[in-house]
Amino acid sequence: MSESENTTIKNTPDSGELVSLAVKVRENAYAPYSNFRVGAALFADNGKIYTGCNVENASYGAAICAERTAIVKAISDGAKNILAIAVSSDSNLPTMPCGICRQVLSEFCSSDMPLFLSNRNGEYKVFSFEELLPHSFKQSDMEDVK
Ligand SMILES: [Zn+2]
Repeated sequence: MSESENTTIKNTPDSGELVSLAVKVRENAYAPYSNFRVGAALFADNGKIYTGCNVENASYGAAICAERTAIVKAISDGAKNILAIAVSSDSNLPTMPCGICRQVLSEFCSSDMPLFLSNRNGEYKVFSFEELLPHSFKQSDMEDVK
């Protein structure tokens, strides 16, 4: 993202706002199999916030995580980059994104994007994306094949 695009974003949410939204949207989770509800809220480069929850299925492999639900909503609405994301769950520990969600995030975020990883009460720890997925596989890794 260019510097000018960055400065046009208004009302950048703070970490507490994103965490609160992640905690709240967790209540919409459809998790009858794991009973582990997760919520996510992200801030995208189009200035909008997108939320998501986990949606499970009787065919377990068809389940989608809260983080990817929010990412797909953002990208399908025209966002190009994710600038920050908060995740919350029913756990008393900070909610760590799974490996698939880390990989999907890597397509749309910078290495220094902050993640606000919360427990069920909204208490959170901050990580950079690079801390969660160092040496990630990216489009550029496929360019040196000829
Ligand atoms: Zn996941």
